[in-house]
Amino acid sequence: MYFIANWKMFGVLNSLNSLHKVMNFFKSFKKKKSVKIIYCPPNTLIRPMTKRLLKSTIEVGAQNCHENDSYGAFTGSVNSSMLKSVGAKYVIIGHSENRQFGETNRMINLKIKSALKSNLKVIFCIGETLQEKRKKITKKVLSKQIKLGLNKIKDNRNILIAYEPVWSIGTGLIPKPKDLFDTVYFIKKRMKSNKVLYGGSVNPKNINQLKFITNIDGYLIGGASQDPKKFIDIIKKSYN
Ligand code: PEP
Repeated sequence: MYFIANWKMFGVLNSLNSLHKVMNFFKSFKKKKSVKIIYCPPNTLIRPMTKRLLKSTIEVGAQNCHENDSYGAFTGSVNSSMLKSVGAKYVIIGHSENRQFGETNRMINLKIKSALKSNLKVIFCIGETLQEKRKKITKKVLSKQIKLGLNKIKDNRNILIAYEPVWSIGTGLIPKPKDLFDTVYFIKKRMKSNKVLYGGSVNPKNINQLKFITNIDGYLIGGASQDPKKFIDIIKKSYN
């Protein structure tokens, strides 16, 4: 099971002081072997976080990368090889918070290609909006995001899919268990064997419900991952 922490635009150097709680918990966690924890902090914290986690099996990823894999005059941007060089092993691509500010499927496709070329593993986010859900076109939307996002990518072994319904991110809402099972089943069939994670308002309460959805391979956790107690609780409760 994957437990991926997306810190979004939160966190300064002092925030790393909270990591020891998660490291200590994980060191003695009985199910440790079946768990992968990945932190995706803002770019400013990737290097210092990697150093703090040196003695741990917890890994670090980034939250986005530029679509251009060479260097260039792109003020304020960071490409995949730059992320790799400071210790990132993963990168989140296609997050709805970026899609809604103009990130297109084509840009996402280029970003994924660039990340794979830099030997980063990709956490590829897909998900429907509330309007699309109401129109009952979720599967059509996901299919299109997968088709265009992974266009001309033959080897998808280093790609994890994060199914994140846009309407559930940061809202406290989660899909009905049957809907979630069916959607994950659909994505797995469509992808032929990729791991599929769920993301959207995962917290220590609703994990008691989510953990019974047997085809989910882990969670992408935003808000709750910034609080070590909540993050640890989510991991513990997934196994109780
Ligand atoms: C996310 O940022 O990917 C996310 C799922 O956020 P939250 O858990 O806060 O809904």
